[in-house]
Amino acid sequence: PFDVLIVGGGPAGAAAAVYAARKGIRTGIASERFGGQVLDTLGIENFISVKETEGPRFALALEEHVRHYDVDIMNLQRAKALVPGTGMIEVQLESGASLKSRTVILSTGARWRNINVPGEHEYKNKGVAYCPHCDGPLFKGKRVAVVGGGNSGVEAAIDLAGIVGHVTLVEFDTKLRADAVLQRKLNSLPNVTVHLNAQTTEITGDGQKVNGLTYKDRATGELHQVPLEGIFIQIGLVPNTDWLKGSVELSRYGEIVVDARGQTSVPGVFAAGDATTVPYKQIIIAAGDGAKAALSAFDHLIRTSVP
Ligand code: FAD
Repeated sequence: PFDVLIVGGGPAGAAAAVYAARKGIRTGIASERFGGQVLDTLGIENFISVKETEGPRFALALEEHVRHYDVDIMNLQRAKALVPGTGMIEVQLESGASLKSRTVILSTGARWRNINVPGEHEYKNKGVAYCPHCDGPLFKGKRVAVVGGGNSGVEAAIDLAGIVGHVTLVEFDTKLRADAVLQRKLNSLPNVTVHLNAQTTEITGDGQKVNGLTYKDRATGELHQVPLEGIFIQIGLVPNTDWLKGSVELSRYGEIVVDARGQTSVPGVFAAGDATTVPYKQIIIAAGDGAKAALSAFDHLIRTSVP
């Protein structure tokens, strides 16, 4: 059995593994895809002290750092259930195997919801983006659209309006769903256009990169083209926590509820990164959270260990 078993091998899980292993305790990390979301990321320019890197390179560096320590790395393993127990917690894998550990750190991350229209997949990282904090500066002075008029969409539009030339916000519903204060701010900006009751039907490009968005006016059925260079899809971030339903407390968005130490509702079970209620889903935040969860797990171990 492990002292610390980490489920999920993104920045949060990797940081947790390094911190746990450095305490000299038995550490394992099981993940479906070591590296996590950064594997799908092109440029990373906001991991402090690394001015510029690429996702796959960053993922490799994470793995090298973890491998430097005595950590049992179990790649291509998908967890399907968490079974809390007295003293020992069990994690069941889809492969049929079962892992036991005195503490568990959940770091299964999240994924951005897609709009599933032609062009979205084809132009991912070629104009189609999901994270304004990450990719906003790439579109400095250019024309972009934000798809989605909830809090994240409207926040993204306000944020981008300060960087890019022009923002078109496209919302399916007849009204924005964002908080009134955000809507007021949005409406005060001179370089933002809002289209309501508008269904995004296609993302167009020249084969290399995005050059426009097509939306349907749902009242008239008319199609409209918006020429632009970038599109931010903001229709939700989905935590990878389906497998935890019924075992740990989740928020109404499916995020694992954690306290300031990364403790979940189950004693001995901690969580870190995009899968949790911690705000702002970023690499550096996930990594910091992973470190914190590992220190909390260690603290739990020294308080509960029987001599
Ligand atoms: P993840 O990176 O999502 O890792 C989750 C891990 O859990 C993976 O190993 C996954 O395989 C595994 N997993 C999931 N479910 C299971 C399961 N049931 N069993 C076992 N393993 C499982 N952030 C920045 O700071 N800067 C950027 O420039 C930036 N650009 C981005 C660009 C894109 C296209 C995307 C998608 C995200 C970007 N982000 C960026 C966000 C950043 O990638 C995330 O905030 C960060 O990766 C979260 O780390 P995490 O460890 O919590 O989760």
